[in-house]
Amino acid sequence: MRYCIGVDLGGTNIAVGLIDLDGKVILQKKSVKTRAPRPCEEISSDIKDVCLSLCDMEGIELSRVEWIGIATPGIVRSGVVVSAVNLGWTNEKFGEILSRMTGRPTFVANDANAAAYAEAKWGCGVGENSLIAVTLGTGIGGGIILDGKIWEGFNGFAAELGHMVIDVGGRRCACGLRGCLEAYCSATALTGETKRMMKLYPDSLMWQVVKGDINRVDGRTAFTANARGDFAARQVIDDFVNYLAIGIANIINVFQPSVVCLGGGISGQGEELMRPLRERLKYTSFGTKDMRTRVEAAVYRNDAGIIGAGLLGIMED
Ligand SMILES: [Zn+2]
Repeated sequence: MRYCIGVDLGGTNIAVGLIDLDGKVILQKKSVKTRAPRPCEEISSDIKDVCLSLCDMEGIELSRVEWIGIATPGIVRSGVVVSAVNLGWTNEKFGEILSRMTGRPTFVANDANAAAYAEAKWGCGVGENSLIAVTLGTGIGGGIILDGKIWEGFNGFAAELGHMVIDVGGRRCACGLRGCLEAYCSATALTGETKRMMKLYPDSLMWQVVKGDINRVDGRTAFTANARGDFAARQVIDDFVNYLAIGIANIINVFQPSVVCLGGGISGQGEELMRPLRERLKYTSFGTKDMRTRVEAAVYRNDAGIIGAGLLGIMED
């Protein structure tokens, strides 16, 4: 068997998985607290301990692990964490440090890029060589995989797809600009629009969905009411899908990837979201007649970081 280890370094937890590369499964998983900000050496030392304990659980030596991959927040350029504000890091040679401690080759990527890589290799892009991931969460994240490799960009922070402007002078975005995709299609934006429409339509079924409590509104509320035929919810979903289609059409027009992968909580709506989105895309992207690009929901949820990080060694082959 061939093994690798994937590390998903988050602001709260460090999740580590021992992966069977041939069986394409996580054999063992363990997580410890990040306790950020802390020096890179300390966090690396904790990661090494978890790696050793995972190997112990499977009865193998760490030296049998082919490589270790890390998904980290922040800006990454060629294995160096240029900047990760929450960790308190600047120009940390993370890969080099962990490799020295463990004796294994070590690869590092930004977490959103690693998650996209997981989808490209083992998820909804399996067998394809280009995939663009769009993650609809609190904000909108992204990852660009071209010719089987992560595209970091010259500056190390490519794929900020959420800050593509789709409406000049439009809604204010958290980044300070106006009209960004994130201001229309993040879970935060969807929740905000749902609440706004509920106030306009006191008879909307959306009120029943949240049992009269507007604080219970989330990214699912409008979808649930829309499925029951509610007029106001339909408006919310139609607007949401229209804006998302514009963003995705821009991505398709620029990259013409094999797959556009939608992740994040909202993508859990499955066909309720994908069907109208694909329909809308027929009218918004260039060269539609010859379009072969698939738009799919992400396969991986919580394990995307571990899997994507673990597979970084394949990219270096
Ligand atoms: Zn923005």
